[in-house]
Parts: sequence; C-alpha cells; structure tokens
Amino acid sequence: MAKTAVITGSNSGIGLGVAWEMARAGVDVVLNSFTDDEKDHALATEIAKETGVNARYIQADMSDGDACRALIETAGGCDILVNNAGIQHVSPIEDFPVEKWDAIIAINMSSAFHTTATALPVMRERGWGRIVNIASAHGLTASPFKSAYIAAKHGVVGMTKTVALETAREQITCNAICPGYVLTPLVEAQIPDTAKKYGMTEEEVKQKVILERQPSKEFATVEQLGGTVNFLCSDAAAQITGTTISVDGGWTAL
Ligand code: NAD
Repeated sequence: MAKTAVITGSNSGIGLGVAWEMARAGVDVVLNSFTDDEKDHALATEIAKETGVNARYIQADMSDGDACRALIETAGGCDILVNNAGIQHVSPIEDFPVEKWDAIIAINMSSAFHTTATALPVMRERGWGRIVNIASAHGLTASPFKSAYIAAKHGVVGMTKTVALETAREQITCNAICPGYVLTPLVEAQIPDTAKKYGMTEEEVKQKVILERQPSKEFATVEQLGGTVNFLCSDAAAQITGTTISVDGGWTAL
C-alpha cells in the first residue's frame, strides 16, 4: 500500500516541490497551508493527475496548535511527516515586533511539536514512520537581524534529536534538512528591501548578498530538497536518525 505524507506549508516553494518529488516517487501526499482557495485544492488535483497518486489539500493554520493537531487527524494520520511551514522577518532584535516573534516561533517551531506529537502514535501503531523537519542553515549557524527565525530553527534541530532518541528502538526516524538559500517566495520577498538598503539591483543582491554565504554560488532547488526527503524515507536511510543533512552549497563548511 502506498505511504501517505503530510507536508505542512506546501502550497508554495520547498513544500510544494517536496510534495511533487514525493508524489513522483509514488507517495500519497497531503498538501497544507492556512488558506482555503480553489487554487490550493487545484495543486493537489494537478499532482494526482500528473503522478497517479492520491493527493489532497487540507487547510490548517500552523500558528495554531489545535489546528496543527487537527491537520494530522483529518489526514487520518501519516507514515511520513514533513514539517516545512515557515515564515521570516528581518529586524534588529530591539525593534523586532513581538507579534512577529510569536508567529515565527509558533509556525516555524511549535507547529512541528504539535504535528509530531499527533502523528507519532499512528506511526507506532503502523510500525513505521519518517519525520523530516525542514530546518535551515540558520538552524546550525546565525546571521544578524533574524533572531526569531534562527531561534526557531535551532529549536527544531534540538527537537529533531530528542524525537530521534524517543523513537530510536522503533522503525521510526526523525531528521532535519538544513537548506541554504533556495529561490522561493520566502527569499524573493527579502530581495527588494535589501536592494534598496544597499543601492543594488535585484540581480546584484542575489549574487553579492544572498549567495555570498553559499560557496557554490548557486541556489539549492526544491527538487534537490524533495530528493533529499525521499532519500531519508528510503531503506538506505533507516539508520540515519537524530541528525541534520545540509543542502547548502557548502555554507556551513565555511
Ligand atoms: P515559501 O514562503 O515559499 O513557503 C512557505 C510555506 O509555508 C507556504 O506554503 C506558506 O503558505 C506556508 N505557511 C506560512 N504560514 C503558514 C501558516 N500559518 N500555516 C500553514 N502554512 C503556512 O517559503 P520556502 O522558502 O519554501 O520555505 C519553506 C521552509 O523552508 C520554511 O520552513 C523555511 O524556513 C525553510 N527554508 C527556506 C530556505 C530558502 O532559502 N527558501 C532556506 C532554508 C530553510
């Protein structure tokens, strides 16, 4: 029987790319975001049509713990949980809006606590499970002005290790993928302000500011991240648990 994956925050960017790659590998997928538009459901319809797997879209706001739990329940549990939903806000800590701090901690970190806590009992019943947390190079290292994001991503890496220890004797693994920069709406949204700040063109921002940290000087792609998730779900990765895989063009080797 095909396995089912729930991918949080998957109507765009990395989450959507991961959903496509998992579907191409024959996994039934549940897409999610906080909106409930026709175009959200159309994404699932398109994946199902193109790949032949079952694909559904379930609306749930990952800033709300009860909604995170309800997502897993509505999905009927899952074999694979990909905690991917995330937002960003850039500001010096003394000016960091409290509501942005709270939203980033809730969406980028606490949602993974709620979904994992709800998904694990079903994985245990079924005797197999994979939890993949999309953390960040910023789960391992820091940059200025991203205090909430970096705190949340370091938290996710810590929780990943803990869940791995709690499931170590079962056929369940929990790992984090730490991407460097991937050209998604989350990164694109930061470009205009940075261009204004440094008096650069948007292309110069991409090359000289964003990719400055990434030795490969290339963005990672959503397909590469989907491939990494599929690897972590494969038999070859059965003994990989409680760790991070960097997909960052060498950023964290610096
Ligand atoms: P994105 O903005 O394209 O995608 C974010 C997804 O999260 C979207 O589907 C959005 O709808 C969803 N989302 C936001 N708030 C939500 C909420 N309250 N409830 C449910 N869903 C919500 O950005 P992305 O770059 O694809 O980011 C995906 C993940 O990858 C994030 O966790 C991000 O931190 C991480 N990441 C991204 C990069 C990068 O360079 N793009 C690098 C490292 C890590």
